[in-house]
Amino acid sequence: MIPSVLPTYNRAPLTFVKGEGTWLTEADGRRFLDFGAGIAVNALGHAHPALAAALSEQAHTLWHVSNLYHIPQQQALADKLVEHSFADTVFFTNSGTESCELAVKMARKYFYDKGHPEKIEIITFEGAFHGRSSAGMAATGSEKISKGFGPALPGFVQVPLGDLDGVTNAITENTAAIMIEPIQGEGGIRVVPDAELKALRQICDENGLLLIFDEIQCGIGRTGKLFTHEWAGVTPDIMMSAKGIGGGFPLGAVLATEEAASGMTVGTHGSTYGGNPLGCAVGNAVIEQVATPAFLEGVRRKGGLLRQKLEGLVADHPDVFEEVRGAGLLLGLKCKVANTDVVSAGFDNQIITVLAADNVVRLLPPLNVSEDEIAQALIRLEKTAAQVESTLAAV
Ligand code: PLP
Repeated sequence: MIPSVLPTYNRAPLTFVKGEGTWLTEADGRRFLDFGAGIAVNALGHAHPALAAALSEQAHTLWHVSNLYHIPQQQALADKLVEHSFADTVFFTNSGTESCELAVKMARKYFYDKGHPEKIEIITFEGAFHGRSSAGMAATGSEKISKGFGPALPGFVQVPLGDLDGVTNAITENTAAIMIEPIQGEGGIRVVPDAELKALRQICDENGLLLIFDEIQCGIGRTGKLFTHEWAGVTPDIMMSAKGIGGGFPLGAVLATEEAASGMTVGTHGSTYGGNPLGCAVGNAVIEQVATPAFLEGVRRKGGLLRQKLEGLVADHPDVFEEVRGAGLLLGLKCKVANTDVVSAGFDNQIITVLAADNVVRLLPPLNVSEDEIAQALIRLEKTAAQVESTLAAV
């Protein structure tokens, strides 16, 4: 009999009932160190007092009015994002995949309005993940995700990550945009070098294309800048955001330049919940905490510390791990054993990590993780690696 919850997930045998900072409590009382943060969502950990206060205050004031009216919390959050980014304007969504939908619509509408309705193609990259909606699946370009769901949304072309010639060769008179994650998250913490992001910007400029960055996983302070592309010194025309921006409340956003957004006039897009007072109250509290030089410096410092310790772990367990990947607090351990074994052994040692493609285990703690918690995580990861090694020895 089908479970009452549609069984589309392969869930771990864990039920968390309480969260506090970097810690989660299981129904049986065990405390876990959370180095998954709801897949890069709980940017400020669990039950952060400022976020809880913002949500609770808003919940006691006004929940929802719809976008038929002005929403001060939405205006304030948009102003903050514009102040701290390349963008001139923001549309709020409820999820990453909705941000992807709008990014694609915006790029196509831009060219339509410029008299180029034929320009609908978006170039994306192998290993990408952009979501599960029709545009998200098409942009992701993985058969595993799209098989069985009918014809793919047309207008997507995929090239290998790092293949700049492939990008240039894929450009036709129908090309509208290039869409890329500055760091592939689901794809296995694959970092796109700064030089490559710069080259993509140049290719877009030379060919009159729009550049779309998907910072749904790598943005909102995760790599020690508010947005990862800032490291490369280039800006996109359109950027997708979600996950960390709501700190656990479902919230997403599309940020864009005035030019790129020029086609999105009244009636061209909408969302019942997107930018609702509850979500934006929390989003404001997140950005107030994260978008400060001291906080971002802390992410860089703790990211460096975690990376250094993980390098030691890899060196001590060469049969289990191959390398450390990533930036800031978006790190990955490329495994030599099955990554599923490492994540499960982690559960035995009360540390939560997350699977990624390319046999990688992701470490994405809350951005306000403490140095002491990083030290404790390493003790648990050491035990995890030793446990995996002992099963290897037994074979
Ligand atoms: N894009 C990236 C880079 C992601 O990591 C994700 C989610 O993992 C998405 C898009 C889709 O976001 P959501 O699951 O909120 O729809």
